[in-house]
Amino acid sequence: MENNEKKMEKIISLAKQRGFVFSGSEIYGGLQNAWDFGPLGAEMKMNIKTEWWNRFVRGRSDMVGIDTALIMNNKVWQASGHLENFTDPLVECKECHHRFRADHLLEDYFEKNPDVIHEDATNNVSKMAEDLKSFDVKCPDCEGELMKPQQFNMMLKTHLGATEDKASEAYLRPETAQGMFVNFKNIIDSTRKRLPFGIAQIGKAFRNEITPGNYIFRTREFEQMEIEYFIPVPKTDAGWQGYFESWRKEMKEWISYLGIRQEEIYELEVSREELAHYSKRTIDFEYKFPFGQKELYGLAYRTDFDLKNHNLKYRDPKTEEEYIPHVIEPTFGVERTILAVMCSAYTEEDLPNQGEGEEDGAEKRIVMKFPKWLAPIKVAVLPLSKKEELSDEAKIIADDLRGSFATEYDETQSIGKRYRRQDEIGTPYCVTVDFDSLEDKKVTVRDRDTMKQERISISEIKQYLSERL
Ligand code: ATP
Repeated sequence: MENNEKKMEKIISLAKQRGFVFSGSEIYGGLQNAWDFGPLGAEMKMNIKTEWWNRFVRGRSDMVGIDTALIMNNKVWQASGHLENFTDPLVECKECHHRFRADHLLEDYFEKNPDVIHEDATNNVSKMAEDLKSFDVKCPDCEGELMKPQQFNMMLKTHLGATEDKASEAYLRPETAQGMFVNFKNIIDSTRKRLPFGIAQIGKAFRNEITPGNYIFRTREFEQMEIEYFIPVPKTDAGWQGYFESWRKEMKEWISYLGIRQEEIYELEVSREELAHYSKRTIDFEYKFPFGQKELYGLAYRTDFDLKNHNLKYRDPKTEEEYIPHVIEPTFGVERTILAVMCSAYTEEDLPNQGEGEEDGAEKRIVMKFPKWLAPIKVAVLPLSKKEELSDEAKIIADDLRGSFATEYDETQSIGKRYRRQDEIGTPYCVTVDFDSLEDKKVTVRDRDTMKQERISISEIKQYLSERL
């Protein structure tokens, strides 16, 4: 546990120092659990979203993308059930007035007391109240007595226009999904897609989480990459299970493409009692984060719940039959992807055989072993020294590479320290320009993972990198 805590601290500190993630509004004391993505974090986010879009939208003939408004007509949230049901059980401490998720407190209690026999209280706030009382669960912060839990709606409210009254109330969307459902007819009419097909969307979602935390794992503002895949009404279970399994496979392949190892993921089959009311089957892809095994992505069979609520139907062009399609929903959080990738890529290595230029007195190095496509910077161009003839040549090379790859130019500190820095941000290749380069028109290319160095002609670097990146 201690090691895990340390690992998390190290990742958070590296992310801040190197420009992946900063605390939000930091110069004003921050804003609880708000985070800003720095230059490298922004690059990584962009890489993830672009690759996801290429893979699941552009790369498939049965998918289209969409980009819908964050604020929707309140009737959307009424029809979808969010106004009534998008709640979490909130419990407050009578002493310190800190607030917690009642279900999380009970989960922690049962985890620490595995022998206690209990029934699952999912979604049942009066049963949670009973359990908290009978198991004498106390405030985790001050051991104080807890008040009775109550349902708390997580939608973030705002007002549209100049008056702040009931009529101007609106909500920031808590998920991207509804934008896809309410445009179902528009998509059919404009694209002529036929079932089965899917709509995808990437965008912000907002939830007034009771207990945000664990760094960028749970925040009140986050990004989702979601797919609503519409299928004909299944006549038997096999009619939806095939699609479900195929999306499950797609999700697993995406996870492994992120460089996350199979053993770091646990596929949790959500029990019948814990299923959301609209879902017939849900699998949570849980990642073994340093602070515990928690949901990274979800895959749900949502039946015809959504389109039925919005009173939307599909007419089969061949049979003229009209029906409500069913939906398989794979959903991915962008920030949780980044966090899982950072945890998975973070590596500490001994430095026994230091290659040329590597020696900087360090015995260990930290390397972010990101897959190359995901690395925020692909190549760093480093002149051996700040001498003008070297830096001039190195700048020309960097400018030339910049058009093709995310490139960084760095001439500060010793070359060893600069290699360490590039390792920490996961740059797959470093190109070093030395005095020989001026004569033989060759540079040293260093591989992040093997630390092997190769002399390559300047005229061939682009080709060399293209083949490897
Ligand atoms: P949790 O149980 O962790 O609250 P959830 O089951 O409510 O998550 P979904 O409604 O299925 O989450 O949302 C889809 C995805 O959006 C999640 O799998 C996760 O990747 C991401 N996500 C959800 N809530 C948050 C949040 N507060 N902060 C960051 N990412 C989130």
